[in-house]
Amino acid sequence: TVSGKNDASGSRILVFVRLRPMAKKEREAGLRCCVRIVNRRDVYLTEFANENDYLRLKRLRGRHFAFDAAFPDSTSQKEVYSTTTADLLEQVLQGRNGSVFCYGATGAGKTYTMLGTVENPGVMVLAIKDLFTKIRQRSCDGNHVVHLSYLEVYNETVRDLLSPGRPLVLREDKQGIVAAGLTQYRAYSTDEVMALLQQGNQNRTTEPTRANETSSRSHAILQVVVEYRVRDASMNVVQRVGKLSLIDLAGSERALATDQRTLRSLEGANINRSLLALSSCINALVEGKKHIPYRNSKLTQLLKDSLGGACNTAMIANISPSNLSFGETQNTLHWADRAK
Ligand code: ADP
Ligand code: MG
Repeated sequence: TVSGKNDASGSRILVFVRLRPMAKKEREAGLRCCVRIVNRRDVYLTEFANENDYLRLKRLRGRHFAFDAAFPDSTSQKEVYSTTTADLLEQVLQGRNGSVFCYGATGAGKTYTMLGTVENPGVMVLAIKDLFTKIRQRSCDGNHVVHLSYLEVYNETVRDLLSPGRPLVLREDKQGIVAAGLTQYRAYSTDEVMALLQQGNQNRTTEPTRANETSSRSHAILQVVVEYRVRDASMNVVQRVGKLSLIDLAGSERALATDQRTLRSLEGANINRSLLALSSCINALVEGKKHIPYRNSKLTQLLKDSLGGACNTAMIANISPSNLSFGETQNTLHWADRAK
């Protein structure tokens, strides 16, 4: 396990990289692998599509990146879960909030990492499984209640993935920002959850031009709220609430440049506002700024209570191995490098 340093200068975000395996189709098309992971920590881009790529990379930080952990393509779902998320879940049981993001270009493995398949369930499912195991172990000393919400942000519209219908309105109340009318599904066991999440994922908005593909511009957010009640020695009820947010972000390919000079033109080009706003918040947190611009998008409003402050955050940057994805991979690594 990896533990973060907690200096006062800024929030510590754990940053991980996961390389997906080369697909059969890619290998058959003669694509080459351009990423090498050494010592579960260091990521090297080993091949350049052309001289321009090489020069661009040199101007960044050389071609070597080091992260809290880097997962080679053989890494199991369980290992990704236990390294990135298990500690956060433990914190949630103590009444703290936390969040785990998957960031990367479309096709890099975000949904596989978060949701996974029935045979190889991902972080969302493994977290809930682990949660119920931990609750069972502690069942003698109090009462735990688990609620799940699964929602989508698409084009700055918030939708309930467990009960599709009209867009949800965000309201600010005593507890913070809430999506009015959002389904709070009371979960009793792991078995029901995979089907529920698969169904929810089917409800994600599909882009008209990519009829068979879940939209590359939709963010999916699973929120797991754990409530714990116990009577203390003098029989007073003590209550603790913790929340874990697991986020399958929109594809990053259209949100590459984030500096102020280009921001305006990108917005004109229908760039993903929520993804840009998330980047700004993370950079502000890492730099230790006082003002964190949560209000700039629906995604960052929804995650206001789960990002920064006393919250724990993990970022998984998903990358593709193929030399065709070189540019996207480099951009993802650079973005992740800035989140450290
Ligand atoms: P994204 O959500 O980032 O667009 P996906 O998760 O849909 O990407 O992954 C693209 C394809 O690669 C899918 O067919 C997925 O099953 C496969 N894939 C991704 N990561 C892995 C992995 N670690 N092991 C095996 N297959 C993977
Ligand atoms: Mg996806």
